[in-house]
Amino acid sequence: MPPDDTMLHVRPRAVQTAADGTVVGSRACEVCGTALTGRESQQTCSDRCRARRWRMRQARRGHHRDNELRVLALAARQAIEALERRLEDPT
Ligand SMILES: [Zn+2]
Repeated sequence: MPPDDTMLHVRPRAVQTAADGTVVGSRACEVCGTALTGRESQQTCSDRCRARRWRMRQARRGHHRDNELRVLALAARQAIEALERRLEDPT
């Protein structure tokens, strides 16, 4: 197979996901669902919706991190308790 063939296969896919990984062709605002008129790979209809979307993402990320920290704290506490029990009562 000549190398030119693989180039042709790879290129359109790279262009489709070039912007930021979002699917090209979605033409509705992610926040309020308003149809988008812009030609660019824009995901929200207005600055307000863009800000809201950003804040929603931040909140979700923060929530996720909180859960991870809680799980870590719980595991650490259990480990300490197990250690204390062993120290108190060595058999
Ligand atoms: Zn919107």
